[in-house]
Amino acid sequence: MDFFDFHHHHLGQFGIYNLDLFSDDNPEIFSVGLHPKDITNDFESALDWAKSRAQEPNCLAIGECGLDALVEVDSALQEELFTQQILLANKLQKPIIIHCVRRHQDLLKFQKIAKIPLIVHGFNKKESIATNLLNAGFYLSFGKSLLENLSLQSVFKECPNHRFFLETDAAEINISEIYDKASSIKAMSTSEMQQLIKQNLNLILNNE
Ligand SMILES: [Zn+2]
Repeated sequence: MDFFDFHHHHLGQFGIYNLDLFSDDNPEIFSVGLHPKDITNDFESALDWAKSRAQEPNCLAIGECGLDALVEVDSALQEELFTQQILLANKLQKPIIIHCVRRHQDLLKFQKIAKIPLIVHGFNKKESIATNLLNAGFYLSFGKSLLENLSLQSVFKECPNHRFFLETDAAEINISEIYDKASSIKAMSTSEMQQLIKQNLNLILNNE
């Protein structure tokens, strides 16, 4: 069985490839959205492009999109565009892959308008933030930080088995390394971990 990479930027890799803005690549499966860093004055045409590619059957999820306190884009505009993408995801019944930097507390109010699963990708925050998100119904996706960050490893250990994914994002590492670390933390075999991720994927795609 393969190692499903929940969120990545490596064209050709197995998993959900995140399309670059205005790309016409046609990966086997992908996510598409407007990243906060890509919001410019011409956000309308970027959003139109994302909306049109989001209709394609190979598009499994909307994103990455969300809130980023470190980019110089007005936070009200970020929130408005995040809301529009949640409404799009509701309409298409596709989950959302969330990019969030230092705005995790603010994510909670967006959960209330979402009728689809919300997955916070690249999660590497402390236990209390994880608990708040998990209690609100979010899923968490863990990447490279899991390999070395001991406190994140304990967050991952406590994360319910039906609420997480594994990813490489932009890192130049092999996804199997993250599966190996995750399996050992959860005291599972690699194939049990692969099976679990597959089940979790089915959960969010069927919106159960
Ligand atoms: Zn990414």
